[in-house]
Amino acid sequence: MLSQVCCSILCPKVSRAKLFSGIIAVFCTLAVATEIAAAAAKLGIDESSMNKTVTPGNDFWEFSNGTWLAKTEIPADKSRWGAGGILAEETNLRLIALIQELAKNRAPATPAARMVADYYNAFMDEAGIEGKGLLPLQPALQQIAAITDKEALARVLGGSIRADVDALNNTDFYTENVFGLWVVQGFGDPKHYTPYLLQGGLGLPDRAYYLTKDDRMEGIRTKYQAYITTILRLAGLTEPEARAARIFALERQIAESHATREDSEDVLKANNPWSRADFDQKAPGMDWSAFFKAAGLEGQTMFTIWQPGAVVGESGLVASVPLADWKDFLVFHTLNHFAGVLPKVFLDANFAFFGTVLAGTPQQQARPKRALESANAVIGDLVGQVYVAKYFPAASKAKVQTMVANLLKAFDQRITKLDWMAPSTKEQARAKLKTLYVGIGYPDHWKDFSGLVLDPADALGNLRRAEEFTYRQNLAKLGQAVDPSEWCMVAQTVNAVNMPLQNALDFPAAILQPPFFDPNASDAANYGGIGATIGHEISHSFDDQGCQFDAQGRLRDWWTPDDLAHFKASSAALAAQYSTYRPFPDLAINGVLNLSENIADLAGLGAALDAYHAATAGTAKPPGQIYTSDQLFFIAYAQSWCGKSREEAERRQILTDGHSPAHYRALTVRNLDDWYAAFAVSPAQKLYLAPAARVRVW
Ligand SMILES: [Zn+2]
Repeated sequence: MLSQVCCSILCPKVSRAKLFSGIIAVFCTLAVATEIAAAAAKLGIDESSMNKTVTPGNDFWEFSNGTWLAKTEIPADKSRWGAGGILAEETNLRLIALIQELAKNRAPATPAARMVADYYNAFMDEAGIEGKGLLPLQPALQQIAAITDKEALARVLGGSIRADVDALNNTDFYTENVFGLWVVQGFGDPKHYTPYLLQGGLGLPDRAYYLTKDDRMEGIRTKYQAYITTILRLAGLTEPEARAARIFALERQIAESHATREDSEDVLKANNPWSRADFDQKAPGMDWSAFFKAAGLEGQTMFTIWQPGAVVGESGLVASVPLADWKDFLVFHTLNHFAGVLPKVFLDANFAFFGTVLAGTPQQQARPKRALESANAVIGDLVGQVYVAKYFPAASKAKVQTMVANLLKAFDQRITKLDWMAPSTKEQARAKLKTLYVGIGYPDHWKDFSGLVLDPADALGNLRRAEEFTYRQNLAKLGQAVDPSEWCMVAQTVNAVNMPLQNALDFPAAILQPPFFDPNASDAANYGGIGATIGHEISHSFDDQGCQFDAQGRLRDWWTPDDLAHFKASSAALAAQYSTYRPFPDLAINGVLNLSENIADLAGLGAALDAYHAATAGTAKPPGQIYTSDQLFFIAYAQSWCGKSREEAERRQILTDGHSPAHYRALTVRNLDDWYAAFAVSPAQKLYLAPAARVRVW
């Protein structure tokens, strides 16, 4: 994603708490977005954001974005802010206004609108939520209280798992349930949906938060344990401190069994087919029959286990850790998971930890924004139908389709011209481009939510039912034929994604807007903006992960040994280049963790420039402009990353996210010869790389 997710450009990882400070902030945000849009309509870049006193070759980030960076404060309800975030904010505000209109209407025009309105109204009913207290959670809490043996524990653990992880598309490795289910085509069987199990069970974002020995992490751990205590006390449990200490100790043991984020990125380490019998033999402790029956997976004979060490470790903990500790663990995680639709004391405690301690965000976003965020997460395709009906012009789709075709042609030519690759390998690489599905705007078929019961007076029940509905939808796909046009993102997301198994790309409607794309802006800026994003997503088919899948999405080695050795050497050089970047004195970028995204940035930018040159037959300088076309292209690229993060959020990103911080993604330009020519970058300047040190992978 662009973000994070895959391939996502921006960051699909949803931070747990964002906020908004009301009407004034809303108008400020709209003003910023409008300003950017107005600038985009002329050149496609925003000159007022630049700092032209800086030499591009010394600090291209500052040259392109310096004035904006100096004058902009991150809004109090955000952990990061910039081009993508501003556009997302504007999109969200439009959607909220649209949904508020629907919500007032007793008979919205379509079933989708009715369901979105009901979900929104329930979420906004703060008085109703306060009045009910923990009543809506009683069935779940009573089920936990009724656990008297390890078989019953396995039943509750199995019944809790959801389809809430996504290892390769949205790269969402986090679930606080013990495991997460991901349903996609098989590594060896591209025609059928198969079950993958991923590790889970942590409240903190990653094992590194439990195991890294330094003062900062120690401080976070202390505050996390205090947060667990608070939640248990609010729920009326006796001895909350002692219980919290035991819950934390259990999570720490779970963390020790977890794979690192870096290992989770390696599909070869994830390709572990387990038969149903393998669970009993390899991972004793859990009553797997009870677990799978409760999970609705009793009929499955084969699974792919992404992190087998965690399955073995967590199953062992089911046997070795006292039942009472597991029950407390389940109570805490149930309360934590639903905190957003519980009374305010739970919500505020949750934000104070996940929003402020973990992401540095001072203020919670306004309730309408949280209602939308929740709806996007669980009934996203219903919201998407409402959104595109009003906000996605057909003309945008046609123009972006042309750009995609040009980018695919450019990428194909880059492969053809590679001097190090054997013809047989080239043929297989080019075949991947031919079978690629590209979705633009919104899916051909919306996900079907008929049968999901949404009650305008039951926020928690709606969330619970929607999550369970999605889980059942995923179970129903198992064994069925794969739909190659299925989307994994929603139309109202400012992001894009590559699905390596499916060999498919999605470009949601919401990213096809300024400053990324504007039908009235210069071609140079459009290719430097959305063009580089399109190139990024195409390139994921050929990054260190994507290149392991063939044209049908089968995990298969289609490389000659020499080709692979060359590819690995180039990749290693790029990983080394990024590992030299130190956003903080004590924390460098992990160039290995971020390799897929960095390869995609590099190859995507190169392909976008080629496509732009081919499409426009390269006029050096558009009439009346002070910038050459290539300068506009590169500035537009750097400005598409314009933004800033709070320190806590950036540290978290470096540790747990496959994407480098935006500043360093903009520095991809250092590897392109055309950037040196465009800005007359000389060896004495700080960003200069000797030609041999510039990495080219594709
Ligand atoms: Zn990506």
